[in-house]
Amino acid sequence: MKQYDVVVIGAATSGSFFARKMAEKGYKVKVIEKNTFEKVGTKYDIFHISEKEFERFSLPRPHENDKAWAFEFSGGYTCSPTGKYPKRTDEAVVGLHMHEYTVLMNKWAQEAGAEIEYGAKFEDLILDDGKIVGIEYEGKDGDQKLYAKTVVDCSGIDAKARRKLPESSTVENFKLQEDDMFYVILRYIKFKDQNIYLADSSNWPFYKSWIAPQPDRNGGIFGIGACHSYDYAESMFEKVEKNIVLPDHDVIRVEKGKTPYTRPPYSFVDDNFIVSGDAGCLTKPNNGEGVTSSMVQIVIAADVLDEALKANDTSKEKLWKINLLYNQQQGADFASTRAILTKAVNAKQSEFEYFFKHDIIFSEKFLGGQADGPEVKISLKDVLQIGTGAVAGIATGKLSFSSLKLLLEGIALGGQLKEHYLKFPETPEGYKEWKEKADEIWATVGKMS
Ligand SMILES: Cc1cc2nc3c(=O)[nH]c(=O)nc-3n(C[C@H](O)[C@H](O)[C@H](O)COP(=O)(O)OP(=O)(O)OC[C@H]3O[C@@H](n4cnc5c(N)ncnc54)[C@H](O)[C@@H]3O)c2cc1C
Repeated sequence: MKQYDVVVIGAATSGSFFARKMAEKGYKVKVIEKNTFEKVGTKYDIFHISEKEFERFSLPRPHENDKAWAFEFSGGYTCSPTGKYPKRTDEAVVGLHMHEYTVLMNKWAQEAGAEIEYGAKFEDLILDDGKIVGIEYEGKDGDQKLYAKTVVDCSGIDAKARRKLPESSTVENFKLQEDDMFYVILRYIKFKDQNIYLADSSNWPFYKSWIAPQPDRNGGIFGIGACHSYDYAESMFEKVEKNIVLPDHDVIRVEKGKTPYTRPPYSFVDDNFIVSGDAGCLTKPNNGEGVTSSMVQIVIAADVLDEALKANDTSKEKLWKINLLYNQQQGADFASTRAILTKAVNAKQSEFEYFFKHDIIFSEKFLGGQADGPEVKISLKDVLQIGTGAVAGIATGKLSFSSLKLLLEGIALGGQLKEHYLKFPETPEGYKEWKEKADEIWATVGKMS
């Protein structure tokens, strides 16, 4: 019988990070990855990690000429729907090749002692007396079984193991629906004029569109993320192109991908089980990025799991602290931001223009704050400034009552969610009541459109 302390499903960024964290604490860790080594991390090419996150999570930091390194840039502009009123933010960002960086993270996990088996596809959980004790998977030598004190699901958006949990589990087993995902399209473009270089990024939040550097500096990645479908994302591209004039360019290639864009399951843990990464919908509410936001939870999870393994007790009661600490550090803020954005995105194009012109929500302070941490801190002075701007907007007919009402509703619901998440029950005892109340608030928030 193959027995491990921890079995991780999925060897991309979240799975490798989890495996590394547990292996460096001295545990026997096995990762199974359905892709071959050559194919791991190939779902798309370029992704970004902000410079400060490498140090924060002690991640391997590639530099120029390393295979995983693609480019670096610092900050950029966030603009109104017509490209006006640019707001500058100055965060240093590193562009990385997804496959090469995943390989680097795989090796980093292996150096600490984790085993990785490629071409190994998770099939099912093994239960004993209703509790998870291992997994079944299809490997090169046919059907295999692995036993572990804890199974960690890092299998990405399809959440292969979480989806197998029974209805009675403390971890919800929901399947993401079409409107629970962000459909991202990346157009790798090259400018016709060889003297044009892209030094930083530009974002247009109204369309959820941006342009940022790519390895060829005479071009860029013109991206869009939209709810509903790729077709809808394409229709938004058309709108951007009508209003924002980019230098003449050719589209060299196109990549598409989906990222979770919904609230995470309320609990990440059950007996001998943890869910993380995209499988746990740990993406940022403002842009759907999820590599390092998942790591916030994984650092917590690894420390709590360490305590649990030392006590030889990986029950949900023992792992519950993961939920509590995550909500305190990031979950409550993400829930609040998600509620505010869900309501705010309903504003019309001309209203976004007004927000930008008058620094309502889209000010350098708020945008810079978003880059610095999960929560945008709003002081009383800021509220007054937003309020004055909003009242003037209503008086001059630039802002509709309905949009203002939605924005205020979003802020109020965001506040309620934050408070509720910070009161997450300390043990599974109070979970049922807490969940009912959370369901009620989320039902009022609705879905992002
Ligand atoms: C186009 C696009 C651009 C993005 N850009 C950024 C960005 O710049 N920065 C950022 O932070 N985020 C970005 N994101 C989001 C980011 O890609 C994800 O949040 C992140 O990759 C999630 O990592 P993960 O390890 O949790 O899941 P995944 O990367 O999806 O990895 C899951 C792994 O599990 C494996 N697996 C699946 N099923 C099984 C099975 N049955 N058995 C065994 N293994 C299995 C998969 O093969 C895969 O290796 C972007 C998303 C998209 C779509």
